[in-house]
Amino acid sequence: MTLRRSSSSLSYDLAWAAVRLGVAFVPVILFPSWITWIVAVLLALGVVFLIVAAFMYAYVAACPGCGERVHGLSVKVDCVGHQCPHCKRFVEVEGDKLVLTPPDRASDGPSFGVLLRGSPGELPDICCTCGAPSTRTRALTDTKANVSLDAPVCDNHEPSARLRKAAGRVRLDVASIRFAQALGERDGLALVGSGPYSEAPARVPWISGLGGITLTGLGFVLARQELPFKELFAGIAAGLGAFVLMHFVVGAGFLVRRRIVGD
Ligand SMILES: [Zn+2]
Ligand SMILES: [Zn+2]
Repeated sequence: MTLRRSSSSLSYDLAWAAVRLGVAFVPVILFPSWITWIVAVLLALGVVFLIVAAFMYAYVAACPGCGERVHGLSVKVDCVGHQCPHCKRFVEVEGDKLVLTPPDRASDGPSFGVLLRGSPGELPDICCTCGAPSTRTRALTDTKANVSLDAPVCDNHEPSARLRKAAGRVRLDVASIRFAQALGERDGLALVGSGPYSEAPARVPWISGLGGITLTGLGFVLARQELPFKELFAGIAAGLGAFVLMHFVVGAGFLVRRRIVGD
């Protein structure tokens, strides 16, 4: 249960970062212009975050619940909200050890996720921020996900909770593990973690892959036309293509990571 550095996760993430850098710079290489340079810098900034995360979360440890390996851990932060991908229990880092998250943990932010099925109706009488008995509710809405609910809280807290769409489902994240577990058990809902690699899409976004390649191809077609500013138009098409292609590389990268690294 002691944390150790995982070379497989670090090498995978660095290779993934290299592919993403490649995608970021393809439009500049094909159609150099100020537009494609802006695209490259914007997309490369995202990759810098990935590289920092790769080094930060390059640790692995055996799950204290089931003994299987849990990747994506850090010795610098407590990792509250991380979930064992095998037994689905919440784990966290204490010193250099991986431990099960205690049932009364209230994290600093919404770290414990519940995947909702439609509107959950009345929620458990537990403060979603601290886990104490709730005394009132506060409205929580997500217009994108088209869900609203009354989040239970105690007298001392406002809801530390977030509603959002992830992998085609609506998820509710809360700071209190007690609340998340009570809701999950009551309605038979899956609990989800909030580690750096927990945002994998449900399936590979092939449409984005195809769309990115098509837009880049359109760049070549435009560059051959007798048009004023044709290089600029080609750069815009290829730049858009790079954004869409990046969506594919990121989504597919999460899923391949799960297979190869096992997280
Ligand atoms: Zn486990
Ligand atoms: Zn409270």
